[in-house]
Amino acid sequence: CFCELEGSINDCSCDVDTVDHFNNMKIYPRLQSLLVKNFFRFYKVNLRQDCPFWHDDSRCSIRFCQVENCEEKAIPQGIKDKGEHKEKSASFKYTREAQETGDGAVGCSGVEDFESALGFLDTSISDQAHKEFELWAKHDEAEEDFCILDDHEEGSQYVDLLLNPERYTGYRGDSAHRIWKSIYLENCFGGNNATANKFSNYVPHLDLRDVCLEQRAFYRIISGLHSSINIHLCSKYLLSESKDFLDPQGVWGPNVKEFKRRFSPETTSGEGPHWLRNLYFIYLVELRALAKAAPYLRREEYYTGIAEEDDEVKLAINDMLSVIESFQSHFDENALFSSGIASIKFKHDYKEKFRNISRIMSCVGCDKCKLWGKLQTQGLGTALKILYSEKLNLATESGIWDKPHIEADPIFRLSRSEIVALFNAFGRLSNSIYEMENFRRVLR
Ligand code: FAD
Repeated sequence: CFCELEGSINDCSCDVDTVDHFNNMKIYPRLQSLLVKNFFRFYKVNLRQDCPFWHDDSRCSIRFCQVENCEEKAIPQGIKDKGEHKEKSASFKYTREAQETGDGAVGCSGVEDFESALGFLDTSISDQAHKEFELWAKHDEAEEDFCILDDHEEGSQYVDLLLNPERYTGYRGDSAHRIWKSIYLENCFGGNNATANKFSNYVPHLDLRDVCLEQRAFYRIISGLHSSINIHLCSKYLLSESKDFLDPQGVWGPNVKEFKRRFSPETTSGEGPHWLRNLYFIYLVELRALAKAAPYLRREEYYTGIAEEDDEVKLAINDMLSVIESFQSHFDENALFSSGIASIKFKHDYKEKFRNISRIMSCVGCDKCKLWGKLQTQGLGTALKILYSEKLNLATESGIWDKPHIEADPIFRLSRSEIVALFNAFGRLSNSIYEMENFRRVLR
């Protein structure tokens, strides 16, 4: 079977078998029970944003492309109340308290400036000044983002992910191809014509021997995400449709023929198995991000206002992070951007290109695909932010995670949306690896 992958995963010191076993036995079952919890189930997203790159009115009219709205009352009050604004205020409050008590101050340039500026303010700080500082803090935080966050914008809404599973929608053709092509084209760095030319064919092919590790990693990450999305549509395929147009139900299940068409060497000029391997690559990237952020993630509240469930989630997170930390062969993020001054610029360009990918997601012509596309790019962006965050490194070096938890740690921070996207995006990759095992079984 072509999907019977063997050997080590390119650019990682880990083999496919090890990941299969680790994921299918340890991670997949844990994520299955975690991601149905209220905290992870409601995702705030803007599906109404215009495409910033081209005009496209070819919206998918297939009924499976639609996103089912959730009822307002289904969303726990704690999630609705604990918006970004309040979280930012909490971090502001902490910084002031730390200033007053001398407690918890940790060296980090942005934060020191912020704190010393705060020293000039008395307790009757005006709302205007308060807002300005929040803007500073927001700008400072956004510097490290690999993704454009749109959950604050007008038009953003909560979506119940359980009501809208990622599966076959029928979205295809020029619109879908244009998105994939634009995403792969983001991998052309510094006017390298040789590379750009390779992308000028529709098929985004890249001779990976010709390019540096960073560019290779970029391609593998995108290709892995592409594989994961396509595996999902094959594993939850519409096998038979209800005749009644108003009936959203149909028979859904794995379509082995479709999987073969998309990934077998015969139908993909030999590329399919490499694309499947790239799924393992992006999985290891996100796994490493979770391991690196584990001390931070353990201190999160996962607040929904439903006390019993919040406690359960915290325990489940703690358990899963321990399992993730026990995994030995993670992706080594330090191998990227390690060659001096040039790599600072490279890292900056990299960030911009990933931000562009998150903008491209607004151009997806099928709402359901857009929802999952946005979530998965935000999850990936969050993983990269964790891996390359100076603030997280500083916080870890300063030992802040071993100190008692203070309301909000101002140095490194993830929003609720980022955390929900990170875990759900990783859940998608974990699910794809699990589904591959099913396809292998049938194909054998
Ligand atoms: P495509 O998947 O469109 O691929 C285009 C070309 O890219 C292929 O011909 C091949 O040369 C190359 N390619 C394919 N896979 C890889 C890979 N892994 N790595 C590198 N190169 C590759 N459809 C759904 O049914 N449900 C969804 O939820 C869904 N979500 C989507 C989300 C996004 C963001 C996008 C852009 C599309 C989504 N689609 C979804 C559409 C789906 O991904 C395909 O585009 C569509 O099914 C058409 O498939 P295709 O065979 O023409 O090849």
